[in-house]
Amino acid sequence: MRKKRQSSRGRLTVIAGPMFSGKTSKLVAMVEVFTRMGYKVLTVKPKLDDRYGGKDEIHSHDHKKTPAIIVDGETPEAIIEKIVTTRADKVIFDEVQFFDKEKVMRVIDVLRKRGIHVIAAGLLYDYQRKPFGSTPDLLGLADERLELFAICQKCGSLARHTERVSGGKGQIVVGAANMYIASCEKCHRIYK
Ligand SMILES: [Zn+2]
Repeated sequence: MRKKRQSSRGRLTVIAGPMFSGKTSKLVAMVEVFTRMGYKVLTVKPKLDDRYGGKDEIHSHDHKKTPAIIVDGETPEAIIEKIVTTRADKVIFDEVQFFDKEKVMRVIDVLRKRGIHVIAAGLLYDYQRKPFGSTPDLLGLADERLELFAICQKCGSLARHTERVSGGKGQIVVGAANMYIASCEKCHRIYK
């Protein structure tokens, strides 16, 4: 049995970017490398992200996948016990913006105090270009930051925003990829 590293605080890596910027592909690739290196990796995703039928896996848009634990976005603390008992070295939060902000930040802090490396991936901005959940705060706390860009589907520039072309109110409207496009600062529109 490997010895737990109680002494050093776990690293925080944040991967931020709009939809279609390849965040999940990056996570899937990280899981592959870390697993090959001998680390135990646990991937957690919020329950409300059911674009792919709410299965216990994360899928990138290019159809790569890795197993994941599904947790209610309102109670991320439910995973602490599981992470401790499975002795994970690294914990990945996919779509971190969908977890309750205060709670998930507390959970991440608890994990890091236990020496666990936390990787959080999420949207920085919602469809109104407003900060989305904990992602901006986590980015500020991160030891490693990776901001990914998509390609603006209107002009081809680098895109840091997600545009909800379907309209609809509410910060969280999880839907099929065709409800959203990526767009740049200049082209981004908010539909009523
Ligand atoms: Zn554009």
